[in-house]
Amino acid sequence: MSAHALTIHEAGELLRAGDLSSAELTRAILERIHRLDPRVRAYLRVVPEAALAQAEQADAHLARWRREGGALPPRLLGIPLAIKDILCTRGIPTTCGSRILENFVPPYDATAVERLKAQGAVVLGKTNTDEFAMGSSTENSAYFTTRNPWDLSRVPGGSSGGSAAAVAADMALGALGSDTGGSVRQPAGLCGVVGLKPTYGRVSRWGLVAFASSLDQIGPIAKDVRDCAILLQAIAGHDPRDSTSVDAPVPDYLAALEGGIRGLRVGVPREYFVEGVQAGVADAVRAALRVLEGLGATLVEVSLPHTEYALPAYYLIAPAEASANLARYDGVKYGLSVRESADVWDMIRRTRGQGFGPEVKRRIMLGTYALSAGYYDAYYLRAQKTRTLIRQDFDRAFQQVDVLACPVSPTVAFPIGERAEDPLQMYLSDVFTLACSLAGVCGISVPCGFADGLPVGLQIIGNVFDEPTVLRVAYAYEQATDWHTRKPKLDEEV
Ligand code: GLN
Repeated sequence: MSAHALTIHEAGELLRAGDLSSAELTRAILERIHRLDPRVRAYLRVVPEAALAQAEQADAHLARWRREGGALPPRLLGIPLAIKDILCTRGIPTTCGSRILENFVPPYDATAVERLKAQGAVVLGKTNTDEFAMGSSTENSAYFTTRNPWDLSRVPGGSSGGSAAAVAADMALGALGSDTGGSVRQPAGLCGVVGLKPTYGRVSRWGLVAFASSLDQIGPIAKDVRDCAILLQAIAGHDPRDSTSVDAPVPDYLAALEGGIRGLRVGVPREYFVEGVQAGVADAVRAALRVLEGLGATLVEVSLPHTEYALPAYYLIAPAEASANLARYDGVKYGLSVRESADVWDMIRRTRGQGFGPEVKRRIMLGTYALSAGYYDAYYLRAQKTRTLIRQDFDRAFQQVDVLACPVSPTVAFPIGERAEDPLQMYLSDVFTLACSLAGVCGISVPCGFADGLPVGLQIIGNVFDEPTVLRVAYAYEQATDWHTRKPKLDEEV
């Protein structure tokens, strides 16, 4: 098998055995990026020299270990990974897909990135994203649109579309994304890879540029469930620099994969199997449910009655928080600053006018409106009360079942441009991921088939901090199927 096609755990074994060096692996991936990324456009920036230097360090570590023995090297040692360009990376520009941060070079690494580097992982570069992670297709990136490796005329999903496309096209062994309302799960689903949104509080968000602080979580995107567990293991855990990160022990996610799912209760939420779901998507997900049943799980129909309010509640809460978070881009502290201005207010107006794209402006206006005196009670406060009802739906469901299973997205990847002019249509592509985010629970997307030749994702949602069960169900499903081994035919088109 060519090096670029390896999973993290496969590459790790070869590296430890001395059958492959991290420099070879990294060069193979860089060569592939060089060859394919002009068409896929997953990366905003690649850092080949830094990546190769990290790879050589990893090789030195591995050689020492083979010579002298000692503790087993970390699982990510020498593994080339991609980072969504909304996570701060020391010395590497971090644009958030926005013109306003075009020249911003963070002086520090996000905690999640720091933890990957502490294991000796190789950072390949930064992947494309919708501006400030606001979007579902990467079409809101100020730079360019990433293409779906399965069909280059279609979107990869978003906002972590660059990370998902990079992993699907074997241009990284794994990646980090961020998920506020679906931005890890939806692109993973649309690109046929695995993506996990951890429980709110599981992963430190220090150094993750804030979009909606009560929702944002960093999550791994990987080629299979085992790799996803390896990445989560590396980034999870308390961080005193993020007060929302929870000080609770991190389970052994790899051990959690084993054991099967016999006797487990899988909830099938009625509200997620409705009209409006593409027929091929519904068929693939229903077939996946039968596989789970065949593995010994019991399917239980459940109801999450407030599901229909998730979308309106999210599009008040997330913009409200965004409007506050994005107030910091004023042309004074960092990022773009339009100096040809009459006075300071004019400078701020021009900087924000030129620096932000249309979707970000729409959200700032929506959010500012929803928070303003006289409207706060009618919109923001009601959205928050709705959020509580949604959370209670999940609490009730998890008294009956261990996990929930449903589609990730109502359709497969859509053509570039199809929804770009229609924000409501675009917002609808997250209709099945938003409630999980509002409730703060965890969810994974695993490949479960194809419709019209494009990947379909199965979403498995677990209770707070129950990533072990979510991973176990996803792993059992993956072991029983071979969807995750399918690859887009990018090479043949060259
Ligand atoms: N698509 C949703 C939005 O535009 C979710 C984005 C995300 O999870 N970052 O807000």
